[in-house]
Amino acid sequence: MIETGDFSNRIVSAELMEEDTAIEKGLRPLSLAEYIGQDKVKENMAIYIEAAKRREGALDHVLLYGPPGLGKTTLSAIIAKEMGVNLRITTGPAIERAGDLAAILTNLSPGDVLFIDEIHRLNRAVEEILYPALEDHAIDIIVGKGPSARSLRVELPEFTLVGATTRAGQLSAPLRDRFGIVQRLELYSPEQLSEIVLRSSRILGIPCTAEGAMELARRSRGTPRIANRLLKRVRDFADVLGNGEITDIITRTALDRLEIDDKGLDNVDRRMLEMIIKGYGGGPVGLETLAAALGEEAITLEDVCEPFLMQLGFLSRTPRGRCATLLAYAHLGYPVPQGAVQPDQMTLLDDTE
Ligand code: ADP
Repeated sequence: MIETGDFSNRIVSAELMEEDTAIEKGLRPLSLAEYIGQDKVKENMAIYIEAAKRREGALDHVLLYGPPGLGKTTLSAIIAKEMGVNLRITTGPAIERAGDLAAILTNLSPGDVLFIDEIHRLNRAVEEILYPALEDHAIDIIVGKGPSARSLRVELPEFTLVGATTRAGQLSAPLRDRFGIVQRLELYSPEQLSEIVLRSSRILGIPCTAEGAMELARRSRGTPRIANRLLKRVRDFADVLGNGEITDIITRTALDRLEIDDKGLDNVDRRMLEMIIKGYGGGPVGLETLAAALGEEAITLEDVCEPFLMQLGFLSRTPRGRCATLLAYAHLGYPVPQGAVQPDQMTLLDDTE
């Protein structure tokens, strides 16, 4: 039988955990120059910011999307800083009523950046207040009740909304259309992540070799938040088992103990692939079925496990469901079944050999 796992506490979860808050504070890059990777996004944003500054106007509304922990909040803070304006941070689920949003909007100063995380979770009534705010810099407030109710138009200063979401597909079309700038953040390469690890270790005063940083980077699921979290964990091992320096051997020992394998997969990823291979003959299996079999929400599998497993070439999404690739069979040590050869995955296999 395949055990089910608790996804919420995994050390390689990309979601923000309490322990991250303290560590992330000092590690967030404060300028585009310090922001590592995401070159296309950075180049584009630098131009849009420069153009807005030359026009002395607010930056157009920005939608940032991509898996959690890739730097959406960080980038929004950088945008505000580069524009020289204030940043207000909130999240979709925290804005329960239209009045809550109205209060936030009427308190903005000219040019301010309003960051709404998880913007796909705004409710409809709130979203409707947002449309005229984004387009006409005004909101319509209903005053009074019943027959005496009337609509009052309140003018707002020009501002920039930066929306962040892990699921751009769930945004309603009218909301999506109101963003002039839409940028997708990608998972980071091991090289970029190792730069991030070295930067963080310098800031935290942890000695770290280039090989140690690279080993840690390879096992961080392409996600800076996870890299920084693992750095903190590996430091404990370096202090106790070594002389405090993070080397490749210390990193390997620590991450093996944390059951994060050499590709960065943890128990949950492995169980997901095993479930597809052993439970469903390698797939295709529908996401909902898979989630139910693992005792987990489909959304977690889709947002957290899948992007990384697909980047590694371990999982393919087909119209009929999820399939484990030959690489996944090989990685988990299962014999490759006859007839499971998928040409596109064969290329991946060749590349890594
Ligand atoms: P998101 O909002 O996408 O969930 P965050 O912006 O909170 O992600 O980023 C998580 C952490 O990862 C940040 O505290 C920061 O230290 C680090 N980080 C993210 N992107 C980068 C980057 N490009 N360069 C360096 N560190 C980064």
